[in-house]
Amino acid sequence: MQIEHYINKHIPMQKADTKQLLHFIMSKPRMDGKVAIVTGGASGIGEAAARLFASCGATVVIADVQDELGEAVAASVAGGGCRYMRCDVTDEAQVEATVAAVVAEHGRLDVMVSNAGVLLPTGPVMDMDLAALDRVMSVNFRGSAACVKHAARAMVSRGTRGAIVCTASVASCQGGFGPATYTASKHAVLGLVRAAAGELGRHGVRVNCVSPGGVATPLSCGLTGMSPEEMEAAAEPHNVLRGKVLKAADVAEAMLFLASDQAAFVSGHNLVVDGATTAVNYAVLQSVGL
Ligand code: NAD
Repeated sequence: MQIEHYINKHIPMQKADTKQLLHFIMSKPRMDGKVAIVTGGASGIGEAAARLFASCGATVVIADVQDELGEAVAASVAGGGCRYMRCDVTDEAQVEATVAAVVAEHGRLDVMVSNAGVLLPTGPVMDMDLAALDRVMSVNFRGSAACVKHAARAMVSRGTRGAIVCTASVASCQGGFGPATYTASKHAVLGLVRAAAGELGRHGVRVNCVSPGGVATPLSCGLTGMSPEEMEAAAEPHNVLRGKVLKAADVAEAMLFLASDQAAFVSGHNLVVDGATTAVNYAVLQSVGL
């Protein structure tokens, strides 16, 4: 309302385009002055988040294990507000060192996006590969735990009212979206987020997660063996929400909201970005002809 009032007061009526543009710019959650780490930011959803956060004024550090790709993404972000640091989230010492290096360089950490993840073909439950289960849990859950722990320490010790955003999945809400190992790891991420939100609230630190439906990225395409176009075409007929395919950029927008001051009282929340897939029993919906 305040933005609309300001624009209507200061821009003449006939400048409709200027008004629209200003409204767009001023109503976008701003990240000016904020320092963010995005794990898994070299590719897919993390890359989209790193680009979006930087475009909204944040200083972004991409923390990943794909050095060449991470360096290239950081270098391609306009304005020089993004850099790459190698960080394997399965190694707590590397997570701690990354957070420490960011705080040493920028004096603060406002946002931790714990997004790095893997989806391995660990087989049906009766043939479950337990070594692969350890690998999935060590990246998806243990890696998130290390990120939450060290980001929270940096925020609390400096009195920063920070925001932690983890990438869970629709597999944090229901079974059937992936192997049991992946599903269990994402349920664990959601549990971590809720527990951490409870503990860190007294310090003014918010902890949330996003839960995307299927997005065509190297992670999902790698598992299915499909190209991004094939994956999107295969998913479309099963979507509850039609006429739109979920993209990494859509998930990044949800992350931006949770990371920004516009979500100042949102904590412990699982923001599902799935076009109602987990809200609706699709089989029943179809069987009753709706
Ligand atoms: P992606 O493969 O494009 O990106 C994952 C990134 O994580 C890669 O850059 C990879 O190098 C990095 N990574 C993997 N292991 C790491 C480690 N040990 N340390 C640091 N970085 C590591 O895949 P994506 O789809 O963008 O996945 C991002 C997140 O989104 C994951 O947590 C994934 O589980 C989640 N997710 C994806 C989908 C989907 O359909 N693509 C749906 C729901 C949730």
